Amino acid sequence: MLVVMKIDASKSEIDAVKTKIESLGYSAHEIPGAERVAIGITGNKGKLDKNLFMGMPGVIDAISVSKPYKLVSREVKPDNTEIRLGDEIIGGKELTIIAGPCSVESREQILEMAEMLTSVGVKFLRGGAYKPRTSPYAFQGLKKEALTYLSEVRRKTGMKIVTEVKDVATLPYVAEVADVLQIGARNMQNFSLLEAVGSLKHPVLLKRGISSTIEEFLMAAEYIVNQGNYNVILCERGIRTFETATRFTLDLNAVPVVKHLSHLPIIVDPSHGIGLWDGVSSMSMASIAAGADGLIIEVHKNPETALSDGYQSLKPEKFKVLINKLKQIAEVMDRSLSLTKN
Ligand code: PEP
Ligand code: MN
Repeated sequence: MLVVMKIDASKSEIDAVKTKIESLGYSAHEIPGAERVAIGITGNKGKLDKNLFMGMPGVIDAISVSKPYKLVSREVKPDNTEIRLGDEIIGGKELTIIAGPCSVESREQILEMAEMLTSVGVKFLRGGAYKPRTSPYAFQGLKKEALTYLSEVRRKTGMKIVTEVKDVATLPYVAEVADVLQIGARNMQNFSLLEAVGSLKHPVLLKRGISSTIEEFLMAAEYIVNQGNYNVILCERGIRTFETATRFTLDLNAVPVVKHLSHLPIIVDPSHGIGLWDGVSSMSMASIAAGADGLIIEVHKNPETALSDGYQSLKPEKFKVLINKLKQIAEVMDRSLSLTKN
């Protein structure tokens, strides 16, 4: 249920509603809106009687939420969520561009890549330190060593770091370096990990599970938000279908559908979505045209020798060409790319 407060409701009226919700044994989530505050209720098993709240001072309405996910739904919060990270806003008019190699492979590699991306104006660097790989024999990442390199890059270039957190045990180290904590597709339903990142303030980039429905995806986001962390960025990264010509099937339908169902920002990962470097530019442009709030793209100087995902990585020259095309697509969508002005 959602208790909607009057525009001029006072703090004490809002607090009284929250106290009542908690005294009933449920959790209260204050959701600030553009015009008025609403208070989401979770933890109830059955339907709540709206009359529990309707008579209270400052309350204008109490409505039941039809979706299984509550706090991430647009029913509960009609305005888009904009995530603030320093001067950056994710989910606003400007599109977030995250780029970098699949994995951090060496100090030189990640520093060189960060410099190249900075020269193009990219503000967010991706690079895996802990890599959850399908095969236990595949490169598992440089782990803590990679975190020290990412931390150096952050210090030297001012880029914001997006890196994956694989499990609860390593979360404290990763959270020290990461500006944005990435939860990989294979961990989308790792509920203890979702709860653990939910108890932090870091923005979380939640990737859609390989075989997850949009509803399951939003339920996973609900786990994070339910712990108090509203800074969730959803990421469509392709799902498994019968098609074998591409690595996954990028489900661009998810962009408008998620935008309709949820207030959270959604970005697209075309690199994993198609899995073939020469399709990445087309799918990046299509993602922006579909209304995505940004992109996460794998870029590697020598894709042929990459330790992971080289076949889907763009070379720097191709990436630069793509950025220029994206600027034009963004304009059509009445948006622009968030890049540093060089
Ligand atoms: C990645 O971003 O390199 C990655 C492993 O992505 P996903 O979890 O979407 O497969
Ligand atoms: Mn990858």
